[in-house]
Amino acid sequence: MVDGLPAAAQSPESEEPESEEWEIPLPVWIGEEHVRFAVRALVLHLPGDEPTGPRCLWDEHPHPCRLARWGRRVLAARGLSDEAIDVVVQRADPYIDLSIVMDEA
Ligand SMILES: [Zn+2]
Repeated sequence: MVDGLPAAAQSPESEEPESEEWEIPLPVWIGEEHVRFAVRALVLHLPGDEPTGPRCLWDEHPHPCRLARWGRRVLAARGLSDEAIDVVVQRADPYIDLSIVMDEA
Protein backbone atom coordinates (compact mmCIF):
# COMPACT_ATOMS: atom_id res chain seq x y z
CA MET A 1 0.00 0.00 0.00
CA VAL A 2 1.16 3.52 -0.78
CA ASP A 3 -0.07 6.18 1.64
CA GLY A 4 -2.34 8.85 0.20
CA LEU A 5 -2.95 7.18 -3.19
CA PRO A 6 -6.33 5.84 -4.18
CA ALA A 7 -6.29 2.09 -4.88
CA ALA A 8 -6.74 2.62 -8.59
CA ALA A 9 -3.50 4.63 -8.85
CA GLN A 10 -1.37 1.78 -7.55
CA SER A 11 0.20 -0.77 -9.83
CA PRO A 12 -1.86 -3.95 -10.03
CA GLU A 13 0.75 -6.29 -8.59
CA SER A 14 -1.56 -9.27 -8.67
CA GLU A 15 -1.82 -9.07 -12.45
CA GLU A 16 0.76 -11.14 -14.28
CA PRO A 17 2.47 -9.41 -17.23
CA GLU A 18 1.49 -12.38 -19.44
CA SER A 19 -2.14 -12.83 -18.52
CA GLU A 20 -3.84 -15.96 -19.81
CA GLU A 21 -6.75 -13.74 -20.80
CA TRP A 22 -4.67 -12.09 -23.50
CA GLU A 23 -5.59 -13.65 -26.84
CA ILE A 24 -3.50 -13.95 -29.98
CA PRO A 25 -5.39 -12.00 -32.66
CA LEU A 26 -6.71 -13.91 -35.63
CA PRO A 27 -5.17 -13.04 -38.99
CA VAL A 28 -7.33 -10.78 -41.15
CA TRP A 29 -7.27 -13.37 -43.88
CA ILE A 30 -6.77 -16.99 -42.83
CA GLY A 31 -4.63 -18.75 -45.40
CA GLU A 32 -3.48 -22.33 -45.75
CA GLU A 33 -0.30 -21.63 -43.75
CA HIS A 34 -2.37 -20.33 -40.81
CA VAL A 35 -4.53 -23.44 -40.93
CA ARG A 36 -1.42 -25.67 -40.94
CA PHE A 37 0.02 -23.73 -38.01
CA ALA A 38 -3.28 -23.99 -36.14
CA VAL A 39 -3.38 -27.77 -36.67
CA ARG A 40 0.22 -28.08 -35.48
CA ALA A 41 -0.60 -25.97 -32.40
CA LEU A 42 -3.58 -28.19 -31.54
CA VAL A 43 -1.60 -31.39 -32.07
CA LEU A 44 1.32 -30.21 -29.92
CA HIS A 45 -0.52 -28.26 -27.20
CA LEU A 46 -2.33 -31.14 -25.56
CA PRO A 47 -3.70 -31.23 -22.02
CA GLY A 48 -1.69 -33.20 -19.50
CA ASP A 49 -3.19 -34.44 -16.25
CA GLU A 50 -2.00 -32.57 -13.20
CA PRO A 51 -3.42 -32.56 -9.66
CA THR A 52 -4.10 -28.84 -10.10
CA GLY A 53 -6.00 -29.35 -13.36
CA PRO A 54 -5.09 -29.95 -17.00
CA ARG A 55 -1.89 -28.26 -18.11
CA CYS A 56 -0.48 -27.90 -21.59
CA LEU A 57 2.19 -30.57 -22.19
CA TRP A 58 4.08 -28.15 -24.41
CA ASP A 59 4.28 -24.92 -22.40
CA GLU A 60 2.79 -25.98 -19.02
CA HIS A 61 0.17 -23.24 -19.02
CA PRO A 62 -3.36 -24.13 -17.86
CA HIS A 63 -5.04 -25.95 -20.75
CA PRO A 64 -6.37 -24.88 -23.18
CA CYS A 65 -3.36 -22.58 -23.40
CA ARG A 66 -3.22 -19.51 -25.61
CA LEU A 67 -1.95 -21.32 -28.71
CA ALA A 68 -4.46 -24.13 -28.32
CA ARG A 69 -7.25 -21.53 -28.09
CA TRP A 70 -5.86 -19.69 -31.12
CA GLY A 71 -5.73 -22.92 -33.09
CA ARG A 72 -9.36 -23.70 -32.32
CA ARG A 73 -10.44 -20.17 -33.28
CA VAL A 74 -8.56 -20.36 -36.60
CA LEU A 75 -10.14 -23.70 -37.49
CA ALA A 76 -13.58 -22.49 -36.35
CA ALA A 77 -13.16 -19.45 -38.59
CA ARG A 78 -12.46 -21.86 -41.46
CA GLY A 79 -15.82 -23.51 -40.79
CA LEU A 80 -14.85 -26.47 -38.61
CA SER A 81 -17.30 -27.45 -35.88
CA ASP A 82 -16.15 -28.17 -32.32
CA GLU A 83 -16.55 -31.88 -33.08
CA ALA A 84 -14.39 -31.60 -36.20
CA ILE A 85 -11.69 -29.76 -34.24
CA ASP A 86 -11.78 -32.52 -31.59
CA VAL A 87 -11.17 -35.04 -34.38
CA VAL A 88 -8.14 -33.02 -35.52
CA VAL A 89 -6.75 -33.15 -31.96
CA GLN A 90 -7.43 -36.89 -31.63
CA ARG A 91 -5.85 -37.79 -34.99
CA ALA A 92 -2.67 -35.96 -33.93
CA ASP A 93 -1.70 -35.63 -37.60
CA PRO A 94 -0.32 -32.20 -38.55
CA TYR A 95 -0.89 -33.05 -42.23
CA ILE A 96 -4.50 -34.13 -41.77
CA ASP A 97 -6.85 -33.37 -44.68
CA LEU A 98 -9.36 -30.98 -43.11
CA SER A 99 -11.95 -31.44 -45.86
CA ILE A 100 -12.27 -35.09 -44.81
CA VAL A 101 -12.66 -34.10 -41.15
CA MET A 102 -15.37 -31.60 -42.08
CA ASP A 103 -17.27 -34.25 -44.04
CA GLU A 104 -17.06 -36.74 -41.15
CA ALA A 105 -18.15 -34.41 -38.34
ZN1 LIG B 1 0.35 -24.85 -25.03
